[in-house]
Order: sequence, then C-alpha cells, then structure tokens
Amino acid sequence: MPLTANDPKFKSWLDVPSNSDFPIQNIPFGVFLTRDDIITIGTRIGDTAIDLGALHQLGYFKGIELTDDIFLQDSLNDFIADGRKTWRLVRNRISKIFRENSDTELRNNMEHREKVLFKMDEIEMQLPVDVGDYTDFYASKEHATNVGSLFRDPENALLPNWLRIPIGYHGRSSSIIPSGTPVRRPIGQMKPGDDGVPGFGPTKLLDFELEMAFITTAANDLGKRISVKEAEEYIFGLVLFNDWSARDIQAWEYVPLGPFLGKSFASTISPWIVTLDALEPFRTKGPDQEPQPLPYLQQEGKKNFDIQLQALIQPEDGDETVVANSNFKYMYWSMSQQFAHHTLNGCNVRSGDMMGSGTISGPTKDSYGSMLELTWRGQNPLTLKDGSKRKFIDDGDTVILRGFSERNGVRIGFGDCSGKILPALPY
Ligand code: CA
Repeated sequence: MPLTANDPKFKSWLDVPSNSDFPIQNIPFGVFLTRDDIITIGTRIGDTAIDLGALHQLGYFKGIELTDDIFLQDSLNDFIADGRKTWRLVRNRISKIFRENSDTELRNNMEHREKVLFKMDEIEMQLPVDVGDYTDFYASKEHATNVGSLFRDPENALLPNWLRIPIGYHGRSSSIIPSGTPVRRPIGQMKPGDDGVPGFGPTKLLDFELEMAFITTAANDLGKRISVKEAEEYIFGLVLFNDWSARDIQAWEYVPLGPFLGKSFASTISPWIVTLDALEPFRTKGPDQEPQPLPYLQQEGKKNFDIQLQALIQPEDGDETVVANSNFKYMYWSMSQQFAHHTLNGCNVRSGDMMGSGTISGPTKDSYGSMLELTWRGQNPLTLKDGSKRKFIDDGDTVILRGFSERNGVRIGFGDCSGKILPALPY
C-alpha cells in the first residue's frame, strides 16, 4: 500500500497558512464536537476541521471497506483496530479529495462542503482515544542520567539495568486529558523534616515532562510476543505528551514501587494523532547502543524520528517564553524496542493503548525536558520574558508543548499540547 499522501508536491484547495502544522501531507486523526454539538471523528488541513463521519455518509469513502458508523464515534479505537491497510487507504483518499488538480466533487459541491468543513474555532477537540492502558517509559539517557544525579548519586547516575532494559512503569489512564483542559495543583505527602512527620499540602515542585507518546492498535494475544521488526506495524501514530509531575510528592513516595500520586493527577496529550505514516520521511538513526542490547532488542535501519520539540511557559496574561528545545531523535530506546520489550512476557497490547517515551532531554542544558533538570532542582531559576523567575511551575502558568518535523518544504506538526495550572483546592 503506497504512501501517496506524503508527496511533497501536493497542495490543498483548502487554505493552509504558511508554517501550519497541518499541510495536506499530514492528515492527522482526532475527535471533535461540531458546531451542532455532534461528536465525530475528523481530520484537519490548515485551520479547517473536516468531519469524516459526514464525509463517509455522503459516500466519499466508496470502495474502502468501512462500517457505516466507523467515524461517528467518540473515540478512534475501532478505526485504529481496522489496521494499517485501512488507515492508509483512508489517508490516501482524504489526500485525493482535498488536493488541487485532483477530485473536484467535494470542492464544487457547496452543500456538501457546508456539512463537512468547519473552522477550527467552531469545534471543540476531545480526547482522541479511549486509552485502555498507559505505560510510561524512561528512554532518554540524558534524562535518566540527570534525574539519577539529582535524586541519587552523580557518580552512579545511571543504574546498571538502564542500558539493558527499556525501563517503564504502568501509568494511570483515567487522568489523561486533551490539550486545553486545566490542571489542578495536587496536594500530597512530602519527605519528613527533622521531626520525622511528613510534610503535607499543595506540591511546591510542580513540573512538566516533555514527552511524546505512541498509540497502538491491537497487536498480540495474551501470551504472544511482538518482535522489534514487527512493532511499527502496530503503531497508529504519535501525540505530544506532558506527563505532569509533582517532584516533592514523587521523591517521598517512589521507593520501592515507583511513581504514584506524584504523576497520576493529570497527563495532557495533543488532540490530533499524527500517523506514523505521515512521519515516514523523518526517520533517522538513534544513538549508538553500547553495550549491545540482548538479541530480542536488536534493531536494523532507522527506527528513530527527527521531531523538533519545544516547551514554553506562559504566565497568566503574559507572553510565552521558550524554556526548552529538544528532539524526539535523542531517544536511546526506540518505540520498536519499547514495544518488543513490553510484549516480551506475553502482555497483550490493545487498540488505543498509549506508551509514553519518558522525558526527552537532549545533550545541552537548554534541551532538558523538565524544570527539574532545566533549573537543576531550583538551583538555577529560569527568567521568563516578563522578568519573573521560575524554579518550577506557578499557579496561573500555562505550559505548552509543540513539535514538528520539516523536510522538502513540508512541515508535519502536532499543534499545541497545553494546560493551565489552577490553584490547589483547600484542604
Ligand atoms: Ca514521565
């Protein structure tokens, strides 16, 4: 099945502003409420949202095997379960309908256009998938080294298992929220002082984590494995992912079983899932792996993706300040290796599961993916454009993640992954 939709020569007859994350080569998938409050699956070109439910009802997907209601749903889970061949057929068809010098059927039918096309400010983006299980990895060597230095011992920052295993833990899916949903500052227990009594109250060390996450289709039955080589067949696409963290709560609770309430209060994702197919032109080689991983983790070819990432802080009524520039290509363990490791014991992966990369930190101090690292646990506060300082995230701050890939004049992006911090509820 060819990836014709990726052709850099294509232009859409819909308006696409320069520097848009959503040219006709992107065609991401999401879920939104229309101006008539109807929930539907859709895509986006430029600043136009396209109702795929309506498009399907009007017969524009003729010849592709799809159930009648596949797009008239409140999540992408069933469509994702249809598999890669169907995703490609649909994406190629959307490309054909909306590109210049191709089909003119919809372009010339004003009545249909009225039913199918919406301005972005007329719709409300929803969570794109019903996430059954969410796993968070810890796959950036720079991040793991920085955190090991800060929380434990700079001499032995990387634990011996880290270079052998894509370390991960099972996260909480009920609190995964779409971009734009406010986040309430959590309260919790913190490390005791000299009196031995734990601290208690709103977190003082609220942080973001600059991550990406991939969404899977149904892959393996319980007891079966997926190899590194097969893994990408089962990856539908990627989102930006802010794994909000309360560092003081985390530091007290994480031994011996790992993160819990310091992480599970909220995790924000960008609402459009950009398909792995759309990211195909941006493959790149990952970091060299030394020591060589065990055979089940060995991979060939380019399994990383060159996606430029940014984290920004916007104070209440203030301007945005870029605080970090990183890249998805820095990941030590690739998505394929994470997938193979996740299923090594026969754990089954289902349609709509989500796997986070872990914080993506680069090699330089301005490429760290969390405030913990950027300010070195508050020792070196950042100065924002309005002159105010930040050690961690304040109430009223909005944290925005952005990401895009660019080549041959085509920019494939994710849109904003943002969340504003509300003050803790009184206790
Ligand atoms: Ca994380």
